[in-house]
Amino acid sequence: MQGGSLHEHNPWEQAKSQLASAEAHFALPPLLSSRLEHPDRVLEVSVPIAMDDGSIKTFQGFRVQHNNLRGPYKGGLRYHQRVDMNEVKALAFWMTMKNAVVDVPFGGGKGGIALNPKELSEGELERLTREFTRKLFPVIGPSLDVPAPDINTNPKIMGWVADEYAKLRGKKEPAVVTGKALADGGSEGREEATGLGGFFVLSKMLQKFGKDPSGMTVAIQGFGNVGSFLAEHLEKAGLKIVALSDSKGGLYIPNGIPSIAAVEECKRKSGKLAGCYCVGTVCDIENKGKLGAQELSPEGVLTLPVDIIIPAALEDSITEENAANIKASIVLEMANGPTTFVAETILKERGVTIIPDILANAGGVAVSYFEWRQNLDNEHWDKEKVLSLLKEKMNTATEAVWSASQKYQVTLREAAYLVALERLEKSFDSAKA
Ligand code: GLU
Repeated sequence: MQGGSLHEHNPWEQAKSQLASAEAHFALPPLLSSRLEHPDRVLEVSVPIAMDDGSIKTFQGFRVQHNNLRGPYKGGLRYHQRVDMNEVKALAFWMTMKNAVVDVPFGGGKGGIALNPKELSEGELERLTREFTRKLFPVIGPSLDVPAPDINTNPKIMGWVADEYAKLRGKKEPAVVTGKALADGGSEGREEATGLGGFFVLSKMLQKFGKDPSGMTVAIQGFGNVGSFLAEHLEKAGLKIVALSDSKGGLYIPNGIPSIAAVEECKRKSGKLAGCYCVGTVCDIENKGKLGAQELSPEGVLTLPVDIIIPAALEDSITEENAANIKASIVLEMANGPTTFVAETILKERGVTIIPDILANAGGVAVSYFEWRQNLDNEHWDKEKVLSLLKEKMNTATEAVWSASQKYQVTLREAAYLVALERLEKSFDSAKA
């Protein structure tokens, strides 16, 4: 963890500061304001399972249902050693805001288990997920709360959630969870949706800024599901990706990484990015000199001399410690909450534009909404339809955020909050009527 000293990894405090800064521009009814400052419901569960060696281990699980004014609670399940109640509260709050910005009929929720998934076998992960689902069973359902994947969770894990829920419910209800595999009722395009959504947002914003994307240089922190799909789309659109990093290290090739696909293949085989110096299909440390590559630490990726940095890993990666060293003029937040509140004020003073998480990474939940709809209507849409609907959703949300920023003369983050708060207020008013 890299900690800003003001809020020592307390994303919930960061989230509330962001809300307060948006509220300074928007008179929210005090009752609604108070509802948003306090989640509707928090649930903490113990999840004991038998490990492969016969021992018993108990894990700590969480689900926060932040707000359901606009529809069922919706948001992912994260498996990570850093998961705690403050993190899950913040992530649930950001889902409420994100779902309003991208205009899907959901409220916000989030959950997770504190664990290092690399230390568990597949069987242990399955038993843990099924037991966690049993604990969540009374509070989830297609019209109540709909989980999805997040960090270290994937379509297979979502399949276990759906299957366990079906057993307890006595019937199949695939709409209880999204991000499932196609065979379990998942949607075409869901896996690439967050990365592709971020690409649509960035492209539209660059148009608004009057910038030509071709040749712009990019550094990406995080090469999981989100970072890798986004990198592919940026490469296709002619941007130059010069650096990539994962939790173990990274690659920095100032002239541009020759092939994202080759690096992906190399990471898949070797389990890490470091060392993936690929020329054609040959990925070898021997190529390092040939490519003019330079050393890079996982943190170093964010302070490189590039046009755009993309934090696509965890919270708090841009803090008051590194904000002054950031050289990029644009930050595309693909992680949730990567920039601390203090870091943001530093970046603002320095004229760095942040394209905020609740807009930039909303493509995942947008396609989750399409999946949920398909499940409820017993339909299967083709990929072309899903991706064109995704593009439309992301473009509309980006336009709304951009015009709010112009109208109120505020940052893009404040503008995104204003768009969300206006929509939440509408639901709040009609719920009262
Ligand atoms: N975990 C993703 C997010 O943070 C997706 C949530 C969902 O699809 O419900 O946006």
